[in-house]
Amino acid sequence: MARGDYYEDGELSKDRCPRCEDAFLADHSDRQHCGRCGYTEWK
Ligand SMILES: [Zn+2]
Repeated sequence: MARGDYYEDGELSKDRCPRCEDAFLADHSDRQHCGRCGYTEWK
């Protein structure tokens, strides 16, 4: 899927972005990504 870097694709992760606090992180295979600020948390 080319447009995977969006926080509302598929299932929402339970983890929230530490920067936005009210935004969820999208759960990818190797990382979690915030579609709002671009925060990425590598697994
Ligand atoms: Zn964020």
